[in-house]
Amino acid sequence: MQRTKLTWPPSDREPTDLTSDELLELVREQRAEVLGEGGDTVRLVRFAFDARRRVRAWKLDVEVGGSDELDVLQRVGALPAADAGPPVLGDGDEGAGLDSGVQAVSPDGQESVDPAGAALEGSSAATPTGRRMVVVGSGPAGLFCALELARAGVRVTVLERGFDVQRRRRDLARLHRGEAVDPDSNYCHGEGGAGTYSDGKLYARSGRNEDIQRVLRELVDHGAPSAILQSWRPHIGSNILPKVVTAMRETLIGLGGEVRFGARATELVVEERPSETPVRRVVGVRFVQRSSADDERDGPVSEQELACDGVVVATGHSALDALLMLDAAGAPLVPKGFAMGLRIEHPQGWLDDLQYGGLRKTCKLPAAFFELVTERKSRGVYSFCMCPGGFMVPASTAPDRMVINGMSLSRRDSPFANSGVVVAVQPEDLAGGKGMRWGAAKLLRAAADGGAELLPEGKLGRLAEGWLPDAPDPWAGLAIQRALEFQAARWAGGDNRGPAQRADHFAAGAGQVSEPLATSYQAGLVGVDLARELPRGLSERLRAGVRHFDGQLPGFAGPDGQLVGVESRTSSPVRVERDARTLASPGVAGLYPAGEGAGYAGGIVSAALDGRRVAAAVLAQLVG
Ligand SMILES: Cc1cc2nc3c(=O)[nH]c(=O)nc-3n(C[C@H](O)[C@H](O)[C@H](O)COP(=O)(O)OP(=O)(O)OC[C@H]3O[C@@H](n4cnc5c(N)ncnc54)[C@H](O)[C@@H]3O)c2cc1C
Repeated sequence: MQRTKLTWPPSDREPTDLTSDELLELVREQRAEVLGEGGDTVRLVRFAFDARRRVRAWKLDVEVGGSDELDVLQRVGALPAADAGPPVLGDGDEGAGLDSGVQAVSPDGQESVDPAGAALEGSSAATPTGRRMVVVGSGPAGLFCALELARAGVRVTVLERGFDVQRRRRDLARLHRGEAVDPDSNYCHGEGGAGTYSDGKLYARSGRNEDIQRVLRELVDHGAPSAILQSWRPHIGSNILPKVVTAMRETLIGLGGEVRFGARATELVVEERPSETPVRRVVGVRFVQRSSADDERDGPVSEQELACDGVVVATGHSALDALLMLDAAGAPLVPKGFAMGLRIEHPQGWLDDLQYGGLRKTCKLPAAFFELVTERKSRGVYSFCMCPGGFMVPASTAPDRMVINGMSLSRRDSPFANSGVVVAVQPEDLAGGKGMRWGAAKLLRAAADGGAELLPEGKLGRLAEGWLPDAPDPWAGLAIQRALEFQAARWAGGDNRGPAQRADHFAAGAGQVSEPLATSYQAGLVGVDLARELPRGLSERLRAGVRHFDGQLPGFAGPDGQLVGVESRTSSPVRVERDARTLASPGVAGLYPAGEGAGYAGGIVSAALDGRRVAAAVLAQLVG
């Protein structure tokens, strides 16, 4: 069996449309030397679109071998099926990549050890272990973790503060109409976590390829298009993701697991055991149970408690209350770097023409995208979570704050391209004199004066008065995020409207505001001088970044580009510490922080990988 590379010109079809015979013909034309005497079979393993001006063609990686050889590999799951047929749920046209030659910096997914070695497979539960785990959060980290635990015979209950995808969809529609956000049910909270109604990009910049393939295969087994196994730029889209997430929930229930929606964990029940190290051990979870019925949104809640052998907390980067719960239980938290900025929207046609030289008008090609990175005053400025052919959406979790993010459907066929443009923020940027120069004190004071609830009293210190800590502090980043979101909502006047400024006006510096441009953002935009309003540490760097990117993609900072605020939830400003071997909190036995909110992932795939890693660690300790 041999692996070889082919080139295929753009046409009215994509690589997954090619039949095995057509692939074989391509091999004959371009790599006849790898063919045997006869009986060869060819399978597509990977594909991408190389958009470099002098190339502009599909690049295919194929496996060529005797039919028996490939059939065996296919059966054991080592290869994706080339002729797997149309995507399971109908309309997946996940975007293949293009090689733009510019690299993004990694959102800060931090690697940790895989304590149990090989990942756990299988669709039926092992013999019951008699152990019970609670997983808080049904995002990719929680869901993948819960599935692995259930497969190993652990009784798993998932507590999810939000609702199932159907109810959640209705709550999202309300946001687009400008109605107040439900803090438990929104773009960040609900079944499947922040990734369910997202762009559904499935890239991970860290992690072993075989582990990433396992995550992708799990998604395919639950209804994602099989082409995500082959594409260099796998993407699902928000019309397919909810069905995949629901199918995963059904598998979990089939394995004996339980999922409770509308169940917000409020307290970890901890016992002191002086003979053990650490002396504190989690033995249960208290939670508030809401009704899932749409007509009981303000109905009564009940307080409940579940006893268990351990708790995985995978609550994402948008749940301050979950961090406070971890802190109260004795889990150590440390500050970490994150990023904040704006989202930029352009006409998709502008980008397609730039990247493809007009080819997309006649050929079937994925919506073009960019990945851009530069540095300004020793901090990275980069594009983040780009959504070609997508929509900008309100991703706040509180009614008085504004957060912008992006999503897309599988076809990525909206006339707009949007992307975060963000600046790296290090913990020291928000402390002492450096923090003053960054503009942190001014921002905190302005938000507090406006009535923002930045942090609970015990964690606030004198931040609301603009007094910054002398040394990096885990709560300062959270306060800054919340202050910026609060101010952004005020600049635009509320009702989920976004503050917006034309890219050329923003790049030129403060002083120019005009009517907002046409947009994919349904809740409405309001012209705001973002160059003036943003704290200096963000504004100056963003302006320099936007101008620099205009040099790479002419028009990036042109009059058709529009910046919208604020992209503040790129990752968590804190890390919940874990023991490197057990992945448990060093402060509380049986407590496992996981995923993006705990600081161990950045994105859907890396959160899923972390969930699986934590499951392996739990099993190593719980069942040996
Ligand atoms: C609009 C949008 C678009 C995105 N697009 C992409 C993309 O294209 N590709 C990509 O890789 N990433 C994308 N992301 C980021 C990605 O969704 C996250 O990185 C990923 O979901 C993190 O996974 P997680 O499991 O760690 O946390 P989350 O997905 O955030 O899940 C945490 C879950 O915990 C629940 N929870 C929180 N507190 C409690 C509590 N106290 N009790 C019970 N439940 C609780 C929340 O409701 C939530 O469902 C996007 C995010 C958003 C918001």
